[in-house]
Amino acid sequence: MRIDILTLFPDMCNSVLGESIIGRARENGCVEINSINIRDYTLDKHNRVDDAPYGGGTGMIMQTQPIYDCFKSLCEALGKKPKLIYMSPQGKVLDQQKVKELAKEENIAILCGHYEGVDQRIIDEIVDEEISIGDYVLTGGELPALILADSISRMLPGVLANDDAFQQESHYSSLLEYPQYTRPVEWHGEQVPQVLLSGHHANIEKWRREQSLKRTYERRPDMLESADLDKNDKKYLESLKSEV
Ligand code: SAM
Repeated sequence: MRIDILTLFPDMCNSVLGESIIGRARENGCVEINSINIRDYTLDKHNRVDDAPYGGGTGMIMQTQPIYDCFKSLCEALGKKPKLIYMSPQGKVLDQQKVKELAKEENIAILCGHYEGVDQRIIDEIVDEEISIGDYVLTGGELPALILADSISRMLPGVLANDDAFQQESHYSSLLEYPQYTRPVEWHGEQVPQVLLSGHHANIEKWRREQSLKRTYERRPDMLESADLDKNDKKYLESLKSEV
C-alpha cells in the first residue's frame, strides 16, 4: 500500500514516520509513505500558499492552486487518482472499522490543513472523504494524518511481528483488550493473576475473554451493542449485571 501525505510541514511527518515499527515497515517495503510539500507547487512568486478569508475574520485559508497542482502531480505520478482524505474536525470521527476499510485500499492520499483550513472549493472538487480524529481542534492536520497513517499501516501484512496481533486488540471486534502482565511475577506486593502462570491455555483464554467483556462492560458498554457475543459471553455479562 502507498500513502501520500500532502502537507506544508513534511519534516513533521518524516520525523515520526522514520521511527519504530512504522519506520521499519517502510524500510522493509511493507508500506510506502511519502510526505509531499504543498508549498513546492505554489505559483506565487513569494512562495505563499494562503490568504485572508473572504468576508473577513481571523486566520488564513490555504489556497486552491498549490493544493490542486500538488494533487494533480501525484495523480500523474501514480497514473490514477488515489482516494483523497482531508483531515478535518468536521469529518466523521475515525474508528477501527474505518481503519480496517481503508487498509484495503491500494493508494491513499491525505491532505493536511493548517491555519484556518483549506478553501472549500478544494474539498468540493477533489476530496473523497473528511476524517476527524476527535471532537477537538488542533493547529494542523499533520498529527491527525500521522494517526491515520499509523493505524492503517499496522494492519498491513508484515508490519507487526505477528500478522493477527491487532485482531486481539481493543476495538478490533468491538471489545476492549484484557489486562496484560509481564515479569516480575510480584511487584510492589501485587501478584500476576495465577491463571496466567498456569500454562493451561483453555483457562487462560476463558479468563482473557471474561476480562475483556468485563472491561468493556465497565468502561465502554456502548461497544457491546456491536460486539460478536456467543452464549457464554452473554451469560457472563448477565452475571456481571446481577452483581450490582
Ligand atoms: N477552522 C476549522 C474549523 O473550525 O473547522 C479548523 C481548522 S484547524 C485550526 C487547522 C487544520 O487542522 C484543519 O484544516 C485540519 O486539517 C486539522 N485538524 C484540526 N483538528 C482536527 C481534528 N480533530 N481532526 C482532524 N484534523 C484536524
